[in-house]
Amino acid sequence: MQISSNVLDLPSFNFYKMKVFTTRKEVFTFINSSKKSNKTIGYVPTMGALHNGHASLIEQSVTENSITIVSVFINPTQFDNSSDLDKYPRTLENDINLISNIDSSIVIFTPTAKELYQDNVASKKYFFDGLEHEMEGKHRAGHFDGVGTVLDLFFSLITPTNAYFGEKDFQQLQIVKKLVTKYNLGVNIIGCAIFREQSGLAMSSRNERLSTKARQEASFINKTLIEAKEQFYTKSAAKVEGWVIKEFEKNKYFNLEYVSIANIKTLKPVKRKSKNQQYRIFIAAFIDNIRLIDNIALN
Ligand code: AMP
Repeated sequence: MQISSNVLDLPSFNFYKMKVFTTRKEVFTFINSSKKSNKTIGYVPTMGALHNGHASLIEQSVTENSITIVSVFINPTQFDNSSDLDKYPRTLENDINLISNIDSSIVIFTPTAKELYQDNVASKKYFFDGLEHEMEGKHRAGHFDGVGTVLDLFFSLITPTNAYFGEKDFQQLQIVKKLVTKYNLGVNIIGCAIFREQSGLAMSSRNERLSTKARQEASFINKTLIEAKEQFYTKSAAKVEGWVIKEFEKNKYFNLEYVSIANIKTLKPVKRKSKNQQYRIFIAAFIDNIRLIDNIALN
């Protein structure tokens, strides 16, 4: 494995073929030589603790590009809560293993915050035409400024042809599309379907922190979304949201943070349904003090 790290104290791996870069300079040099041979670059940003949901994005990138780069970086500027940041799972060895099992030519970039941000680990301010004020934006102050800042840094270093994002974080996906068009970043953003556990629970790095009981109960979110979709054919958005709120009130394991039936372009709550518009239903809820999010398309 090609790994130059006096920056990170990484254990030694057997995956000798993998390129694991920790510095911007290594990435820059690698990208420059790849660009000379006209290779397309697929990029998958992650915060590690990789699971099959991440793997589906990485596999799609491998299929569609000559080179794939996966970043594993827990971005401090997108956390509004320092204990959430501290508790975020860190499983780099497993992550490298999972990636090497997909394709050993994938390049991994796992910088420290200081290496990526240099001396200024702080968010810039972004305007995403109001997308940033809905749902997650109301409950996680500064979150999307952190996401915009880190992706700006990664995109300008990696200069990907295509970048892959999960619909699991649908608001993030729409915001990244806005970032790229508004600031002319020249990256093709590709949205990928939500990968679920057999129970219907959307895969998430946070699921690892759930107790066995909570993990069983957590499929309730997806079940409720599916039932809400059925109701939305005949009922108003307000009625369906009201029903969801009541279902969560009856469930002793969960605390609902929000439910929103929203237009997929504006992410604004639906007032009156229109046949020409597309809608999704979004939920954020706590179980075992762990915050889970999910969403599905309604039409
Ligand atoms: P994260 O490591 O949680 O920041 O996620 C990295 C990328 O993987 C984001 O684009 C997520 O939307 C995507 N992702 C996470 N979980 C899933 C999932 N269950 N299905 C599809 N994509 C996912």
